[in-house]
Amino acid sequence: MKVPLLDLKAQYATIKNDVLTAIAEVLDSQVCIGGPKVAELEQKVAEISDCKFAVGVTSGTDALLASLMALNIGPGDEVITTSFTFFATAGSIARTGALPVFVDIDPRTYNLDPSKIEAAITGRTKAIIPVHLYGQMCDMDPIMEVAAKHNLYVIEDAAQAISATYKGRKAGGIGTVGCFSFFPSKNLGGAGDGGMIVTSDPALHERLVAMRSHGSQRKYYHKFVGGNFRLDPLQAAILLVKLPHLGDWSEARRRNAAYYTRAFASSGVQTPWINPDCVSIFNQYTIRVSNRDSLVQALKQEGIGAEIYYPLPMHEQECFAGKCRVAGSLRESETASHSVLSLPVYPELTQDQLDCVADFVLRFAASQERPSPSEVLQ
Ligand SMILES: *Cc1c(COP(=O)(O)O)cnc(C)c1O
Repeated sequence: MKVPLLDLKAQYATIKNDVLTAIAEVLDSQVCIGGPKVAELEQKVAEISDCKFAVGVTSGTDALLASLMALNIGPGDEVITTSFTFFATAGSIARTGALPVFVDIDPRTYNLDPSKIEAAITGRTKAIIPVHLYGQMCDMDPIMEVAAKHNLYVIEDAAQAISATYKGRKAGGIGTVGCFSFFPSKNLGGAGDGGMIVTSDPALHERLVAMRSHGSQRKYYHKFVGGNFRLDPLQAAILLVKLPHLGDWSEARRRNAAYYTRAFASSGVQTPWINPDCVSIFNQYTIRVSNRDSLVQALKQEGIGAEIYYPLPMHEQECFAGKCRVAGSLRESETASHSVLSLPVYPELTQDQLDCVADFVLRFAASQERPSPSEVLQ
């Protein structure tokens, strides 16, 4: 049985008519920039993030970049983040001219280890970007504490964690700003690129709104240099159709995750650890196995989708050679990049598909435990 890593067509089939109606509405209105759909989505995403304001932007990457720009972060500044993340986190820091500073992760959650942050802070540090990886939020209390102590901004990279919670608080709603991505593979995905920034700071909101339109508040008068970071109203309209389903879809992902975790209970497969303070939205279901690369190959041969998020930590990327700072050992980030593997967990998976994936992985794990014939002979 073929099981893709993600099946966007299966989800689209359940909402097709509503999406087509919403698209037609935008096209009929010919409001092609900004307008009521963007404003409505902003209001709703602000609401589900427990924030006062939201600013629709072109992508999750631009949400991070515009946030850094609006906070005046640039050359000479340092921003602390995790090396075990999608490129956009560190890439956005570098694009402002600031220096990415990498701190190791907690091996249980793959998220920034808060106890390692303080040692990485210098007089140049301006901000921390915690990344809520795989749909589970970082341990935010100690991160906010160290940020407050050193007067640092906190930019939550919540691209994989929209509507996830930490001690009942929403992803994106704890830091100075929160950044979301509507990339199609995220829990709330558009039909193309899109993103959003949330904040409760009115002055920062104003700067962010200007930042996405070339830094202008009054047309053709530019207070600072911004960009064209505007969210497309067609994407906003599609996302408004999908948003009411987000809760059910995330619940279905949690059910699928729980099924795998039960199935793998007494095997050599290390299942995700969820902090009891957190509700994950399982953007990914990520396991660790010995001999990970042979499992990936075997899964692909079988027609089962699997992906490594992420095979090379940021501090080992060619583009950051000599252009980042490694704060302490990044051993856990390196180990994770060699051992993690994400399995299909999308909401529309059928029971047969779940069984197929679980059985295959279990058989592989069992085959790894059995001594090889040469070992038996010795
Ligand atoms: C997807 C993602 C981004 C970037 O979002 P885009 O919309 O693809 O630009 C940033 N950070 C993380 C952790 C992501 O997963």
